[in-house]
Amino acid sequence: MKTRMVLSTGAYKEDVPDWQESMFLVRSTADICASYKVRARIVPITSSLQDLDGWCYTEAGADITILSDVSASRIIALFEELKNYFGLHCVWLEHEETGYEGCIMEWPPMVAFRAANNLDPLTCGCGR
Ligand SMILES: [Zn+2]
Repeated sequence: MKTRMVLSTGAYKEDVPDWQESMFLVRSTADICASYKVRARIVPITSSLQDLDGWCYTEAGADITILSDVSASRIIALFEELKNYFGLHCVWLEHEETGYEGCIMEWPPMVAFRAANNLDPLTCGCGR
């Protein structure tokens, strides 16, 4: 069963060359996956986005295909690590086993995890 996570770390920093930031992002993501014993293929993404005022900007991201069979709790643990490391808000999740595609914060196992740990219910608002 395939699991895919797509993360975005926000606008590129002005003082760091884009390629350097992308490579750092991909390498760090791979290191974190390895530390969780999760096999993964990670591809850098650069997006051009537009904010509500019409300004366009570029954003660094990573597209993670998880190649190991992993439980929902390990996917959540991996996400929590990535979230803390990169200061993420959420990630896009495609989880073949449950047929889910969307924001990880609204993924039923994540909703259950947050409720069980007395964390605020999702109010993501990322529009995914
Ligand atoms: Zn979200």
